[in-house]
Amino acid sequence: MSAGQLIRAARHLAARGLSPGSSGNLSVRAGNRVLITPTGSSLSRVEAGDLAEVSLEGAVLAGTPSKEFPLHLAVYRQRPEATAVVHLHSPYATAIACLPPDADGHAALPPLTPYRVMRLGDVPVAPYAAPGTAELAAGVEALAGRAAVLLLAQHGCVVAAAGIDAAVDLAEELETAAQLTLLLDGRPARMIPADRIAGLRPSG
Ligand code: ZN
Repeated sequence: MSAGQLIRAARHLAARGLSPGSSGNLSVRAGNRVLITPTGSSLSRVEAGDLAEVSLEGAVLAGTPSKEFPLHLAVYRQRPEATAVVHLHSPYATAIACLPPDADGHAALPPLTPYRVMRLGDVPVAPYAAPGTAELAAGVEALAGRAAVLLLAQHGCVVAAAGIDAAVDLAEELETAAQLTLLLDGRPARMIPADRIAGLRPSG
C-alpha cells in the first residue's frame, strides 16, 4: 500500500482538471486497511503525511478521512479484487450523471467506440443522495458488485480497480467517453452494432 503512488495519482488527476476545487478522493487497500485522502483536501496539494487510514469495518485508525470513506468501503466490500477506489467530480462524467439514465438504469453513454464498451461496460447510476451520507454509500453498495465503474446522480463518478494506476486509467476512460458523448450533442452518430458489442464486453 503505497502512499507515494496515491499522491502521484492525486497530482495526475488534479493536473488533468478532473478534481475541481477540493473535490475528489482516492483510496488504496491492503488487506483490511485502507489509506484514503483526508477531508477537505485538494488533490493538487495533499501530501503523504495528510493521508488517513481506516479499517474495512469503518474504524478510523489515523488522520481525518474524506467524508466519503463509507462509499469507498462499500465498494471494497462488494469487489474483493479491488485495491483502489477513485471518486471524482470530473466535469464530463458529472454532466452525464445529470442526464436521465436509460430504461435499464444505465448512464446515457452510448456505444460510440470499442473502448467505451470494452473498458467501461454498462455504467449504472446510483440514485441521488447528499454527499457523505450513509444513503449515498448504500446506493453505491447496491450496484458496485456488478460494475467497477459507476456514476452518482448529479454528483460524479466512482471507479474501482486492482491498483491505483488502473483505477486512474478507468476514470480517464470514463471521462473521455462522457466527453465524446457530449461533443456529439445528440447528433445521429454511428454506434457499435448490437451484434458486435458482445465480443467487446470486459470479462468478469
Ligand atoms: Zn463527491
